[in-house]
Amino acid sequence: MKKRAAVLYLALIAGLVLIVFGWYSASFLTYGAGTESDSTTATETLTIPIVTNTATPKADIPQIFDGDRAYADVQAQVDMGPRTPGSEGHAKVREWMRAELESAGWVVEVQETERMGHPIYNIIAKRNDEAPQVILAAHYDTRLAADQDLDESKRTEPVPGANDGASGVAVLLELARTLPKDTEPIWLVFFDAEDNGNIDGWDWLLGSRAFVEEVPVQPQAVIVLDMIGDADLNIFLEQNSNPTLSAEIWSKAAELGYEDKFIQTRKYSMLDDHTPFLEKGIPAVDIIDFDYPYWHTTEDTSDKVSAESLSAVGNTLWHWISER
Ligand SMILES: [Zn+2]
Repeated sequence: MKKRAAVLYLALIAGLVLIVFGWYSASFLTYGAGTESDSTTATETLTIPIVTNTATPKADIPQIFDGDRAYADVQAQVDMGPRTPGSEGHAKVREWMRAELESAGWVVEVQETERMGHPIYNIIAKRNDEAPQVILAAHYDTRLAADQDLDESKRTEPVPGANDGASGVAVLLELARTLPKDTEPIWLVFFDAEDNGNIDGWDWLLGSRAFVEEVPVQPQAVIVLDMIGDADLNIFLEQNSNPTLSAEIWSKAAELGYEDKFIQTRKYSMLDDHTPFLEKGIPAVDIIDFDYPYWHTTEDTSDKVSAESLSAVGNTLWHWISER
């Protein structure tokens, strides 16, 4: 009986050792694959020093930003109809943003002006009267014409703007609700009339240009969010953006395990709401996923956007701002 018990014990121990050894080897294989792809990325971006980490989101870092709530805000905007300048949806979204921001404790001001004969309403949210050190911005208008639609008959229809418009606004609003109150002075700015270039009587960036021309601020950093909700999210480093600030944000994303979404390779060169700031010598970054097949089409709808993508961008910015 004693001998039989000893044999059983030995067999049990041998089994456990085998399981542990197998697990250990498997973890090495997975880690090896991750490291290899990391080093490939690193050689392509030698000019920008970026800290890379493992690809797994860190469970021990608290996530306060709620991607599901941000997704609901994308849906809410799309439900208002197109937010093209002058439309009912445009007026509705302005009122809705004000209500959401005020209930989150922000003071809302509207910069009301005019460009190319069109009224412009930039929505500015602040917490106090201090000059902003950081400005987070997104455009809330949607494009008048879906001129990239594959179906030619739809090219005069407005763009629903789930990703191109609503996604950036949704992340800003969820940051308004969740950011700690003791950050450095920050403004959230919702630009009007970004998206009507190449249409008669319009140009791109009317809202952000009007802001830079008329609102006398000198922030240390301006971060623009545009088209950051694509369920298949690929945000490459934008070529015109301030390299130091970009490196900070992409590093933060990698620290949080989002390096598959914030890709550390320079790709597109964009004209976007960061441009007027750069022209004035203000450090600015454009966070944009321009690999979006539904760009300026009638297919830019909520089903192309995911809470996970909104969460990756929101959580990255939440930590970048809170830890500055
Ligand atoms: Zn657009």
